[in-house]
Amino acid sequence: MGKSTFSIGGVHPHDNKISRECAIEQLPLAPTVYLSMSQHIGAPAKPVVAVGDKVKVGQVVAEPGGFVSAFIHSSVSGTVKSIGPRKDLAGNPQTCIEIAVEGDEWLEGIDTTDTLVTEIPADNKAILDKIRLGGVVGLGGATFPTHVKLSPPPGSKCERVIINGCECEPYLTSDYRTLLEKGEQVVVGAAILKQVMGNVPCTIAIEENKPEAIAHIREVIAKLGYEGIEVMVMKMMYPQGGEKQLIDAVMHRQVGSGALPISVGAVVQNVATALAVYDAVQKNKPIVDNSVTVTGACAPKQANLLVRVGTPLRYILDYLGGVPEEAAKVISGGPMMGRAVANLDAATVKGTGALLLLTEKETRRAPASACIRCGKCADACPMGLEPFLLNRLVKANDLEQLEKNAAQDCIECGCCLYSCPAHIPLLDNIRMGKGAVLGAIRARAAAAKAAAEAAKK
Ligand code: SF4
Ligand code: SF4
Repeated sequence: MGKSTFSIGGVHPHDNKISRECAIEQLPLAPTVYLSMSQHIGAPAKPVVAVGDKVKVGQVVAEPGGFVSAFIHSSVSGTVKSIGPRKDLAGNPQTCIEIAVEGDEWLEGIDTTDTLVTEIPADNKAILDKIRLGGVVGLGGATFPTHVKLSPPPGSKCERVIINGCECEPYLTSDYRTLLEKGEQVVVGAAILKQVMGNVPCTIAIEENKPEAIAHIREVIAKLGYEGIEVMVMKMMYPQGGEKQLIDAVMHRQVGSGALPISVGAVVQNVATALAVYDAVQKNKPIVDNSVTVTGACAPKQANLLVRVGTPLRYILDYLGGVPEEAAKVISGGPMMGRAVANLDAATVKGTGALLLLTEKETRRAPASACIRCGKCADACPMGLEPFLLNRLVKANDLEQLEKNAAQDCIECGCCLYSCPAHIPLLDNIRMGKGAVLGAIRARAAAAKAAAEAAKK
């Protein structure tokens, strides 16, 4: 099959994968970890341990706080020191469990060996349960609980599982290294996902700038002999790894405004999530660690590190040599979709995939000038939106028109900002407008639900 890509918009930023040759290295344990109760989309988890409790690696420390929520497990062994608010990466307080590390004792029943387990359990319900109990969430950015995503609503049917190995964001290399170093486990994870969704075909999508990963995964598929799993080579185009863009590229189907991928028969999971599924199902290992790329021209060292969840960012950076003076900004994630880190004392969460250090020069934005109506932002938008118009509507605080013009569909990819010759902060403004529209939609839904319940009485 030839190289594929999505049909509208997109940009070509330099890929800057300067940490691509750095093998994943285990980060030594920090003296203390801080496990946030808000590591997933949905209700925060509820702590089930108390101050003074002794915990082991892999032990449940918090239970889901709702249907769309996830278990949290201790990533270390030690003593619970406190449970309370602590600032996250953005500086917002989140309930965290603080654990002082004492040794590295794992919970009985977790297989910590490197032995590859290829035989997949036959019982899909038991598999889903293991994924739920393992606290698995989407690690490609959305952190949506995976067992929920794998349970389509009545009337929907999955026709293809897509494993997202594009890693289209510049600089990021942890998925690439995972494909190279844990390719077998990723393919077994893909086979599990394929089976759970009804033995539908499975596509592992990898961008063309990762030929070694493409060749390796093809070899692994042939070696393990799973039927119905293929590698599809994708053109280099940002945001190729966006869920809707990937479905367009692989299945040539468009997910409608506000609709879920399953509405067109697709279930998309990221490479790191496929690995987490393998760990949970085949090794009884919940998410207690994840691979984090540390990169940037001014990073003390390029690295891909296996980091225990809840490790303070400052500890990671100090391990590599500390934050250099010329680093003006640390971004959690990549330069296009990442968020500035406001607090280096914050700890990693399950979804932390990268820390990017940028110099003052790299972060400097040219002053914004007036829109010249060139339309480049609209040409670049992979969601078919009109960013210049949305920007105007945000400024006018016109929520009604923002919703009519689908601001809620913005995937915050930054293509508009990247393309704008007038340097207008389109992404910041549209993100703000999207938040307001989503708030209004949620409030409307809550009011409608309350009215329906009142009418029943
Ligand atoms: S950030 Fe939003 S509006 Fe801008 S290009 Fe991406 S999807 Fe379109
Ligand atoms: S790219 Fe910038 S200058 Fe061009 S239309 Fe869009 S907002 Fe205006």
